[in-house]
Amino acid sequence: MRAAILRHGDLVVDTVPDPVPGPGQVLVKSLVCGICGSDLHAHKHGPRMVDVSRRIGGRPPMDLSRDIVFGHEFCAELLDHGPGTTRKLKPGTRVCSMPIVMTAEGPRTVGYSNEFPGGFAERMVLNEALLIEVPNGLSAEHAALTEPLAVGIHAVEKAAARGDEVPLVIGCGPVGLAVIAALKLKNLRPIIAADFSPARRKLAERLGADIVVDPAATSPYQAWMEKAAIDGVVPAAVWSATPPYKPALIFECVGVPGVLQQVFEGVPRGARIVVVGVCMEIDKIEPMFCISKELNVQFVLGYTPEEFARALRLIAEGQVEAQALITGKVGVDGVKDAFEQLGNPERHTKILVEPWR
Ligand SMILES: [Zn+2]
Repeated sequence: MRAAILRHGDLVVDTVPDPVPGPGQVLVKSLVCGICGSDLHAHKHGPRMVDVSRRIGGRPPMDLSRDIVFGHEFCAELLDHGPGTTRKLKPGTRVCSMPIVMTAEGPRTVGYSNEFPGGFAERMVLNEALLIEVPNGLSAEHAALTEPLAVGIHAVEKAAARGDEVPLVIGCGPVGLAVIAALKLKNLRPIIAADFSPARRKLAERLGADIVVDPAATSPYQAWMEKAAIDGVVPAAVWSATPPYKPALIFECVGVPGVLQQVFEGVPRGARIVVVGVCMEIDKIEPMFCISKELNVQFVLGYTPEEFARALRLIAEGQVEAQALITGKVGVDGVKDAFEQLGNPERHTKILVEPWR
């Protein structure tokens, strides 16, 4: 089958062997698969990613000397059942799934393993037990946004909001936008969002941000203070001992070195910070800011099966403006170029790959 392949650090188009479903697994056709920021990271910082995952332990890291097919944000069509399956869903059914396959040796990540090619190939193998049928009438393009939306839903769940917080979202790339959509669904408002890109600020508004801030012109924290101040009182210092503010809930959705420290310096005392951006490099922080302000920092990753299923349901119900996120579609031949294009936030948010093209 044809696929966009990470081979020796480069993205090439070639054929790879069709995957064969094992016990409890199914063979699917990849209908559409989004390119994720993590794919860009893995392409650029592959060796670092492998080194870190080896040190963290758990799932075995990718072997970069062998072919890898990325793609974990997919909608697929069921083609065939492997041995030991219930065959509950008929071939032809459109499905979504968390990008995980259970094997006798433990779970493997679809799209970040040498054995399980992701959605940038024509075929994939998935677990029958993890398949969720795509509701009738929902397009494959929109269904493919389930995975990135689930990331936002999970981040907001992990924040365990009480309901009186004023959220601030730093960074409005796909992750920040998913967080904004999830905040809106929870009706945690007003939602303040910051991004240097005018196009992304516009998207943030479409997805539910009430106030958007250009950090080059206005401090996001100043904007937050103005909205969160109780009785309109804005004290001179953000870290005054008893801030007359509603509780601060900050979502860091950038994931590059230096941003965490900026957040620690900018937020008010007692803020809760949810780190959703995936920084793959070594970062430096001054703990004294966190200590003095008694900050609470929660790192998050992924989602639960329930959150994943909920994300698909919410998209199907039209509660999330999925279409706004999609800025391009390519075949496997266009993947390499799309990886470069995604560096420009003015042009692109989510590029979808259709491997059958
Ligand atoms: Zn992703």
